[in-house]
Amino acid sequence: MDLAALQTLVDQSLVPKGPDSQWKEKITQKFKDLVQEEVSLASYTWIRLGGVAEVLAYPQTGESLSQLLSFCHEHQVPWQVLGRGSNVLIKDGGLEGLTLVLGKGLDSLEPLESLEDKLRVKVGAGLPLPQLVQWAVEQGAVGVPGLYGIPGTVGGAIRMNAGTRVAEVSDFLENLELIDREGQLHSVPAKRIKFDYRHAQLPQSGVIVSGTFAFKKGEIEKIRQEVQDYQKRRRETQPLDKPNLGSVFKNPPKHFAAELIEEVGLKGVRVGGARISDKHANFIINEGDATAKDVLALIGLAKDKVKEVFDIHLDLEVKVMGRDLESSKE
Ligand SMILES: Cc1cc2nc3c(=O)[nH]c(=O)nc-3n(C[C@H](O)[C@H](O)[C@H](O)COP(=O)(O)OP(=O)(O)OC[C@H]3O[C@@H](n4cnc5c(N)ncnc54)[C@H](O)[C@@H]3O)c2cc1C
Repeated sequence: MDLAALQTLVDQSLVPKGPDSQWKEKITQKFKDLVQEEVSLASYTWIRLGGVAEVLAYPQTGESLSQLLSFCHEHQVPWQVLGRGSNVLIKDGGLEGLTLVLGKGLDSLEPLESLEDKLRVKVGAGLPLPQLVQWAVEQGAVGVPGLYGIPGTVGGAIRMNAGTRVAEVSDFLENLELIDREGQLHSVPAKRIKFDYRHAQLPQSGVIVSGTFAFKKGEIEKIRQEVQDYQKRRRETQPLDKPNLGSVFKNPPKHFAAELIEEVGLKGVRVGGARISDKHANFIINEGDATAKDVLALIGLAKDKVKEVFDIHLDLEVKVMGRDLESSKE
């Protein structure tokens, strides 16, 4: 083979092949009870907006999740995973490929050990975090009220290292199980995961299917009281009556994003159907007919103004996913 022919072969092998053109027919045929085409994502996100998922799957067992992931691997289909969509902004052009939603069937709660001073439990990644928190509070788990009021699933909470100033998921996680891109199950001890502020760097990419948590036990009445205090504070400070994204930006070192946004005068500002909350300036709410484009315009405005006035860069806490409406029509 001459050099030019060899170069062409190398070049071709470098070009990403993209998904098999028949993948949608094949996936709907193979997993007909689990998948649906062209599903609006508004009902899968906390802020109630976003385009459509090309194909959406709702696997209810680790085995079906593993088969779906190995299908995507074999057919080069891009995929992403959602829990309750409480920390994502999905663009108006929706999500390409396969969107996996974890919930029912992957929401078990299995107590492993309950001694006088400690408690261990294994839960499915699709279990709502508030259910784990509620259960742990009733067992007298110390520190867990710090996670009270965080919506979403256990899987999403691990991936985001969800938490507050007083507690984070990583304080209690002992181990997780993850299914990798090829459909293989791995058990990962928490000490092999690098946890940062609202982020967990997993040793390999994939979908978290379960987590094992260990808690110290304390006085139940005191813990219940702490829950009531956190509940009251959230109600007073967060716009929980409207669909929202939670905290949009991470707090920059030594600052609070909400205070910075408020100080540049953006509290209550509206673009289209989206508004920076009057109650908490790091929350963007959907007033009914917001699009992702409206929300992104507010995000851009807050970032630019805070940079201009304070020379501080605001980093997004929410994950922006998907494509713009214009590019989805090309
Ligand atoms: C009103 C409100 C209050 C909030 N308060 C807090 C708070 O106090 N503290 C805080 O930390 N967060 C808070 N959040 C943000 C959000 O609730 C958390 O980040 C939550 O843990 C996200 O879980 P989810 O299941 O909704 O994940 P999603 O939003 O669906 O996904 C978030 C990210 O995790 C990935 N992911 C989801 N599931 C899995 C899985 N099984 N395996 C691998 N990756 C996965 C997704 O791909 C995405 O990248 C709040 C949000 C709202 C709406």
